[in-house]
Parts: sequence; structure tokens; C-alpha cells
Amino acid sequence: MPRPSMQEACTKIVATVGPSCSTREKLAGLIRAGVDVFRINTAHGTREEHEQVLETIREASRETRFPVGVLLDLAGPKIRLGKLAHEPMTCSIGTTLSFVRGEHPQSETELTSTYEQLVDELEVGDRVLLADGSVALQVESTDDNHAKCVVTAAGTIRSRQGINLPGVKLSVSALLPRDIDNAIWGAKNGIDLISLSFVRSAKDVKQLKQLLVEHGSQALAIAKIEKPEALEHLDAIVEEADGIMVARGDLGVEIDVAETPIAQKRIIRVCKAKLKPVIVATQMLESMHLSARPTRAEVSDIANAILDGADACMLSGETAIGNHPAKAVETMNRIMLCTERELIEHSPHNTVPTNRVHPITSAVTHAATNIAEAISAKLIVIATRSGNTAWIKSASRSRIPSIGVSDSEATLRRINLLWGIKPIHADNFGKGAEFIDEICRWGAEHAELKRGDQVVFVTGTGVIDKAHNEILVHTVGD
Ligand code: PEP
Repeated sequence: MPRPSMQEACTKIVATVGPSCSTREKLAGLIRAGVDVFRINTAHGTREEHEQVLETIREASRETRFPVGVLLDLAGPKIRLGKLAHEPMTCSIGTTLSFVRGEHPQSETELTSTYEQLVDELEVGDRVLLADGSVALQVESTDDNHAKCVVTAAGTIRSRQGINLPGVKLSVSALLPRDIDNAIWGAKNGIDLISLSFVRSAKDVKQLKQLLVEHGSQALAIAKIEKPEALEHLDAIVEEADGIMVARGDLGVEIDVAETPIAQKRIIRVCKAKLKPVIVATQMLESMHLSARPTRAEVSDIANAILDGADACMLSGETAIGNHPAKAVETMNRIMLCTERELIEHSPHNTVPTNRVHPITSAVTHAATNIAEAISAKLIVIATRSGNTAWIKSASRSRIPSIGVSDSEATLRRINLLWGIKPIHADNFGKGAEFIDEICRWGAEHAELKRGDQVVFVTGTGVIDKAHNEILVHTVGD
């Protein structure tokens, strides 16, 4: 079935690209299975590889005729271990290890890192977590060239693994030179969404947005919430960002993993109150790296994210390096469809005040949604140049199928993240009757529109600058 189809899930799927799915055929297969946005993770691979992946995604998008979005994930100030003296290294409880400057450990008990100031900024009592939180160290003493730590949770570590420092206030900047370089590359290459890892404050997001604007990009800035500091400043970060990712991998190391479900619910609540799309990420179908079937707990996790109000769910290793990338997407899509039946039947469509669009646009879009509900319209059509009007409709969670229509491919790719909005290109955008005819023809072919069905259009007369001020109820065939 060609995409978008009105039968597909309203919740969006973000899939990470990696060796398991990076050919044109495989990416096209994933789009057909339900992927709305592909993630390129800059923490892995080279510029040449990212260029190749982007080019292949574009080819797959052309082949499937679906304007799939592309999210570029910036690694941010992630600190990693340097090269270890021995590979792997076993850390036993009570042994002492020291962080030292430079790149070359002089003995088996010395550790180096990718962050030069680490030795200066660690303080006695700080916790240092390695190997995804399974190995824990505590700083015992510091001098000019060492931060001496004792192992408090044993395990094995390897070179280049991430270091998590929950609660440690580091002066490292939000965007490292390689993030700036990647963001500029993304801006110049029409990337639709850019996420920043390890955001600590709204200032970090502002810095990314400024960089994007300076390079003429309209990409949406997504803040990844994975630090306790980000939870402290959550309201301000959500306010500043265009969207949020609940990055549960690192979040579950930086805070007690037992607290992550409640943190996820809180983050989604704040996003909904501020009308920002939110992606729930990491380990959603972890067992499908190897298995062709998910666990019951994974199915429940996806369903619960949807019931919490997530706009999108993300697949990481499942599609990037797993054995069953297409099966993982199909499974996620199926869980979404089943869960949404319940969600759509039982949730009232609510309205949220926002300054994101002109107040007239917001009022007109809400009114159009209410009209569509009252007359059981078959389709709501949001004509959108920037994508912002589609944003308002998406937040209402109305059960009426909705399309965001634009003449801009970039806008269509960006609105792929918005719950319930199918991106549709129109040649006659803004041309009155011709526009309506084109959409009705599309609807007859793809949305089972029949003579007598009602369609609600949200458009603008152009009389009010930057505002949608027109609702049109059209009966198909009139
Ligand atoms: C995460 O930590 O959950 C996450 C999505 O980020 P990354 O994949 O970059 O680790």
C-alpha cells in the first residue's frame, strides 16, 4: 500500500540507520513498513558514511514517493574513556583507579578520558559510572594530575566506553567542535530535525537553534533529556526546544533506572502542556535485535508510551544493527494501531494554548477540529507552509484522519514527527478550487473519500499575514 495511508498508525516511528538497513532496498522496505523519520547517529561513523546514508535515504524516499524525515543526532558533550592499558579491564570492588591527564595511561590503574578538564572538575564524593552504569567508581581524593577513585560496583570496562557523571557539574560546552561541524553539515544538506545529546539547560538548545538559523536551516531542534540537570530545567528546555526525546538509555544511567518511567510520564506531560512533539527512545524492542518476536514487556512499553501521549517511538539498535529491522518496524506499527484504537475512542480532543502560531490560526484550527467532529467529517485538511498549523491540529488528538498539505518538501518531511498528521504534497497549493479538487482526487484514491463525504479545510485568505483564517466545509462531489 502506498504511503501515507489513512490506515496507518497516528503515532510516528523513528528508526536509526546502521549496517543492518543501510541499502536503498532495505530503507525503502522500512518506509513501507511504517518508518516516518530516519535517525543518523553522529556518535557512530564518518562524515563520508553519513553522506552516503543521507543520499541512500533520499533515494529510498524517491522510490517510495514518501517524504521521509531525517533526524541528525549530535553526540553532544558525551565523555568517553580513552584507551585502556589493557583490554578489557576488570574492575573489582575496593580497588583504586585514577583518572589522569593525556591519552596514554602509564599503568593498569590509570584511566584517561576524552574530556581534558575531567581531572580538574571531579570532586571528592563524585560518582563516576562506566559500562552503561554497571561499573561505579567514587572519587576519593584529587590532586593536580589525578582524581583517585575507588570501585564501588564491579564489572568489566573497555576503551572508548561512555562515562556518566550524574550530578557532576561540568563546564564542558553543550556543542563540541564536532557537533558544530555536524550541525552545519546537516543545515547545508536539508536535514529536517537535529537532536542534541546531554542537554543541561535551555541555553544549550538556544545555542543549537542559533547555529541552525545562522546557516539558513529550518530544521527542528530536538533536546534529548538524559541528564538530571535537564529534568531540573525541564520546563525551560521544553519551552525553548521544538521537540523532545526521552533518551532512556543514558537517562537510566544518570538517574536511578527505577525512576525512568515516572520521568518519562513527567516529560511527556510537560511536552503536551507546551505543545511540543515528544519521542520516546531506547530499548523499545531490544529483544528483537536477535529474536523475531518481542517480549510482552516490550509490547507493553510501546503501548504505555502511546497512552502517556508520545508523538513518536524510536528504534535504535533494533534497526541499525539488529537481525530483524523490518520486523521490528512492522511490530511497532502493529502495537501502535492496536493501542490507538483504545486511545482514540476514549480521549477527548483537548485544546492547548500556544504562542507558536498566530492566535487566529490556533482558534481557527481548534474550531475546524470541533466542526469536523460535530459533522463526522471524513478528513481534515491542514494547508501548511511552515508546518505550524499541522502542529496545532496534531495536539488535539482528534479521531478524524488528518493530512498536512504543503508545496514544500522540507515542511512535509518535518511534519512527519507530528502525531496523526500524514504529509501530502499538493501541486495546486493555495489555488482555491483547484486545490480542493486535487485533495478530493487524492482522497478518493487513498482515503476512501466518496461522493457526499465531508472534508474540513483549514486555509488562509491571505488577508491576515501569517494566519490561517478560513475554514471550509466541502462535500465531495459538490
Ligand atoms: C539514549 O541515550 O537513550 C539515546 C537515545 O541516545 P544515544 O542513542 O545517542 O545513546
